Amino acid sequence: MKIAVASGKGGTGKTFVSTNLFCTFRHRGLFTSLTDCDAETPNSLIFFRAKRVNQTVVSEYRPVIDASKCLFCGQCYEYCTYNAIFYLPALQKIKLLNDLCHGCGACSVACQYDAITDSQTSVGEVSSYEFADEEDGCLIEAKMNVGVYSPVPVIKSAIKIALQQNAEVMIFDAPPGTSCSFIQTVYPVDYVILVTEPTPFGLSDLKQAVETLRELNKEFGVVINRAGIGNKDVYHYLNEESITLIGEIPFDKSIASCYSKGEIVIDQLSSVRTIFENIADKLIQYGNRDN
Ligand code: SF4
Ligand code: SF4
Repeated sequence: MKIAVASGKGGTGKTFVSTNLFCTFRHRGLFTSLTDCDAETPNSLIFFRAKRVNQTVVSEYRPVIDASKCLFCGQCYEYCTYNAIFYLPALQKIKLLNDLCHGCGACSVACQYDAITDSQTSVGEVSSYEFADEEDGCLIEAKMNVGVYSPVPVIKSAIKIALQQNAEVMIFDAPPGTSCSFIQTVYPVDYVILVTEPTPFGLSDLKQAVETLRELNKEFGVVINRAGIGNKDVYHYLNEESITLIGEIPFDKSIASCYSKGEIVIDQLSSVRTIFENIADKLIQYGNRDN
């Protein structure tokens, strides 16, 4: 079963849920993978002692413009919808703006004068980790290079590597928000857990994420983190929209304290372990639904 843990905004407890759910499944003896797709700031690894066993550099296409062969016809500039070509024909200046380039290759197709050649540039890396003394899980981390425009190629590569592991349960920690990188992460999964908090901001971002998932026709449920703060509007919304509430994690100082020390909370607090056991049961029931 493939599960994404996502949220409409950062800081709602998405990584807390994904790492603790990962351990819940592992404790049940299921071979489980956790893929951190939050490629701008991956941080799942800090909760585990794991050994890196593989690293893959992710590259993306980049055009190389040879100004000495350029006839300043302007075709590449016209074709580039990302404004990634600096073009000043009056001064005979042409240059690639690397940070804006999406590597689509349109400029290369447009150039009839062999002034554009192809190259590859590194945009990030994907690392795989295993646990030294246990064989029931693996971690995969997507990390984009600083200054790279989009994390999507790195996320794509991490997902591909995760799928090859063929784990019984695959958990994907999605990037926050509902942009392309979120869509890329939730696209291959069977079920999405949306983590939110019962505040006006939490509700507003939850609504956006729900809208996006409905457009993608994805099955999803909601986990409310820090239950007890804010107000009841999130609960009313879930009710009105017939959205499944699959778990509630209370606002509790002892949870925050464990988490801030880099501890897996289910291993420290039995009340939280029970909550995650219930969430795991519901996910397994969902997975068995069509069998
Ligand atoms: S590869 Fe695409 S985005 Fe990059 S400069 Fe060429 S047309 Fe523009
Ligand atoms: S299409 Fe080729 S020749 Fe024309 S402006 Fe671009 S690089 Fe120069």
